[in-house]
Amino acid sequence: MKKYEQNWDSDNQITNDASNWAKYRKDMLSAFPAYQNEKSDPLAKAINKAVEAIDQLRPNGEGPAYLGSDPKLNIDFDHVKRIAMPNGMSTTEQVIDDTVALFEGLPNWGHPLTMCNVIPQANTASIVAAVLSEIFSPNILEGEYSWNVHRAELESAGMLGNLFGWNPENTGCLYTYGGSGCWTYHVKYALSRVLKDSRQKGVRTDAKVICSHQAHYTMLNSTDWMGLGMDNVIRVRTDVHTNAMDLQHLEEVLKECRDNDIPVASVVCTMGTTDANAFDPVEDVRKLLDQYPNNPEKYGKALLYCDSVVGWAWATFKEYDFEANPLQFSKEIIPSLKANAQALAGVQYADAIGVDFHKVGWSPYASSCFVYKDSEEFEGLLKRPGSAYLQPRSPYNPLDYTLEVSRAATGSLAGWATMKYFGYEGFQAILGGILENQHFLRNVLAAHTETICVNPEDHGLVTLFRAYPEGVFAEEEYRKELTDPAYKDQLVRNNMLTKAIGDKLYHWFREGKQINGRYTPYISFSTGFRVAEYNRDDTDPDAYIFALKIFPMNVHITPEIMRYAIDCVLLARDEVLSETC
Ligand SMILES: *Cc1c(COP(=O)(O)O)cnc(C)c1O
Repeated sequence: MKKYEQNWDSDNQITNDASNWAKYRKDMLSAFPAYQNEKSDPLAKAINKAVEAIDQLRPNGEGPAYLGSDPKLNIDFDHVKRIAMPNGMSTTEQVIDDTVALFEGLPNWGHPLTMCNVIPQANTASIVAAVLSEIFSPNILEGEYSWNVHRAELESAGMLGNLFGWNPENTGCLYTYGGSGCWTYHVKYALSRVLKDSRQKGVRTDAKVICSHQAHYTMLNSTDWMGLGMDNVIRVRTDVHTNAMDLQHLEEVLKECRDNDIPVASVVCTMGTTDANAFDPVEDVRKLLDQYPNNPEKYGKALLYCDSVVGWAWATFKEYDFEANPLQFSKEIIPSLKANAQALAGVQYADAIGVDFHKVGWSPYASSCFVYKDSEEFEGLLKRPGSAYLQPRSPYNPLDYTLEVSRAATGSLAGWATMKYFGYEGFQAILGGILENQHFLRNVLAAHTETICVNPEDHGLVTLFRAYPEGVFAEEEYRKELTDPAYKDQLVRNNMLTKAIGDKLYHWFREGKQINGRYTPYISFSTGFRVAEYNRDDTDPDAYIFALKIFPMNVHITPEIMRYAIDCVLLARDEVLSETC
């Protein structure tokens, strides 16, 4: 035996020295993480170096709202694919340098001048949790390959079940690839429940998915990819003022389905639309669904899904004492906090809820979570026989019912770490803080006669507004444009001005323009925030309200920045008008 080992060792040694593959393999020892607790782990060193390098892309001082010093898009689209893998090996250092270079010019989501959309800077605990999951690769397809890490998904179900007013013990959740993934999961759940043999025979009946005109366009992705077909989406009218689902119209739709024996797969309540922050009345929708059930002899019960990917975090205010106001929010924002908390209370009536941690959860992608009230039903409905080469080593084996097979733990860890870090009060403070900044912003808009906030009644995180030429009384002009078809030409002209200001600001951001030594804000605009009042039936594609848009999502934003942003908007307006005259 001893002799054999010696021979093997010496053979190995000879091979190591002699062959080229073995030389490469030896190099690789420092290009893979150590498996033992060595004094110096190449991984820790490499990560440290990479984070330091990428952090160098942050500006010195306030700087621009993008990373690095080159804001241009440096992709040669005609030639970018004329590339093959290199023949020889590179070094880890080189690849990390090349990777860091790709981040040059990327929007800096944490920068106080970045406020273009519901895109938050991720919190440190969630980033680190997600990165850790990349190092040892837990796979939450089953317990065996994720071991104690799958507790993050199970505890997320408990924490979210509690938050939404469900029995946490029966709540289940699956982290998946986006709010669109949650929507898709809900369509599958609904079809499996309502069309009972659809899992075996395929979707052979035109069941309907009902959502509002304000619902997210991912309704098309989900119904298309699930094989139901996009034509089976029924869109319910929304109230012109609140943007919420019109219950009367919903009732008509449900009644018609019942009278014609057409099964309803699901009704979707959108809880927080991106622009208007509209919330659908979940409790009333539940009552209507119970009043107009599917034919029980042929079909299962329709599902009630809440697409809360944007609005879910407002549920953290459910037990906030608005009288005592322990976090000392200013009294002006209390009504908004209350309204949002009340709207979210409705989600307790849903069967399933979509949650995006990468939106109003300050976490990295992809950390969306599909949460369901009755884990036994969902997991039973979607159950498949297990695999011959995987053995259950824990009671938790989602591969038996998930869309995905291998499931990274990055999302689970990011979402879980975020909830553990913020807690209820952290969420309350960060959400309320945005409304405080926004309240200040709306006061700035009100102080200028030529600007007007066009969503003053919304309680969400976004402010939409229009800027008019100097000397124009914005409030009066906007009122006419909104209500009077005689002013449609003017509406269209000022829509064009709004878009031109938005584009001008985008170009300034991308050119690295400075005003008095300071870079300009990265904001955006909507080309269809709402319809004009005389266009309620949405038949005139021109009678839409365009609006500039400020989403002050990150914690580095201050009231002073809000004021500066509006100064820049007015300067952009002046430049646009001077170019067109
Ligand atoms: C963003 C959004 C989606 C899609 O979510 P992703 O995470 O981008 O896939 C769905 N619904 C609503 C209301 C959204 O705002």
